[in-house]
Amino acid sequence: MMIVMKEGATEDQIAHVVERVEEIGCTAHISKGEILTLIGAIGAPDKVAELGLEGAPGVDHLTPISKPYKLASRQVKEDRDSVLEIGGRKVGGTNFALMAGPCTVENRDQMLASADAVAEAGATMLRGGAYKPRTSPYSFQGLGREGLRLLAESKERTGLPIVTELLDVKDLDDVLEVADVIQIGARNMQNYSLLAEVGKSGRPTLLKRGLSATVEELLMASEYILKEGNENVMLCERGIRTYETAYRFTLDLLAVPALKELTHLPVIVDPSHAPGRRDWVEAMSLAAVAAGADGIIIEVHNEPEKAICDAAQQVPTSEFQALTSKIEAVADIVGKTVSRA
Ligand code: PEP
Ligand code: MN
Repeated sequence: MMIVMKEGATEDQIAHVVERVEEIGCTAHISKGEILTLIGAIGAPDKVAELGLEGAPGVDHLTPISKPYKLASRQVKEDRDSVLEIGGRKVGGTNFALMAGPCTVENRDQMLASADAVAEAGATMLRGGAYKPRTSPYSFQGLGREGLRLLAESKERTGLPIVTELLDVKDLDDVLEVADVIQIGARNMQNYSLLAEVGKSGRPTLLKRGLSATVEELLMASEYILKEGNENVMLCERGIRTYETAYRFTLDLLAVPALKELTHLPVIVDPSHAPGRRDWVEAMSLAAVAAGADGIIIEVHNEPEKAICDAAQQVPTSEFQALTSKIEAVADIVGKTVSRA
């Protein structure tokens, strides 16, 4: 149930409503807009309706939240887009996040060279995996803590916020030391206990869509993070499994307008993993911007032919500046600006 407060409702009136909602075992999520404050009362809508809050001081009206994903739904933000602030960069609304960097952190030279090029091209954030979810247990699994250390060095050197994947809750504290954004990979989208821990950490999170997950399942997964009080969630379309075998995954760009209609959360596209080949990455990047994405996360490597993983799809750093210019041009057409500090 959503409780819409009157314009000018006082802090005491808001606190009173929160207290009443919590008394019956529901949780209250406050969303303060420029004019109105909304209180999402999550759990037991029938009991909330019986509280008689309609007549309470400062309350304007109550309205049921129709979607199963309560906190992710557009309704709780009165149709406004969430704008996240990450390391001084905004994501959402008219702010477009260009995240780029290698698939995985391999060594110091590779990471720093890639980071420098990404920063020089004017990206918003730097990506790089220290923990890698590999299909084969015999493949390189990431440098782990050494990878995190190299990401910290890259951050210090370039000033770019870091996006890096968390695979296992046992590494959360280590990842929190360097990650400005925790990436939850496609394979962990439904690892609900991991999502809850990331939610509790409060750290901005990029939640990737599972290989076979529906848009609604992605939204429900985000709810596990939001429910813990972490509002800094971005959703990411990265390609889904279909019958098509001509490329790695089917990039579902229709998920972008669909998600934008259903949720206030920023929607990001990964144009790298679905093609699996670098010569198709530009088309998917530009299409993602045109489709209304709030950002893209793209794999860029200083020497892709030598990359340990996802070698075929990583864009060489030497070509990234030209790609950035095209992305900026399309962003401009759709009324967005690449976000920088
Ligand atoms: C990645 O970003 O390198 C990655 C492993 O992504 P996904 O979880 O989408 O496969
Ligand atoms: Mn990859």
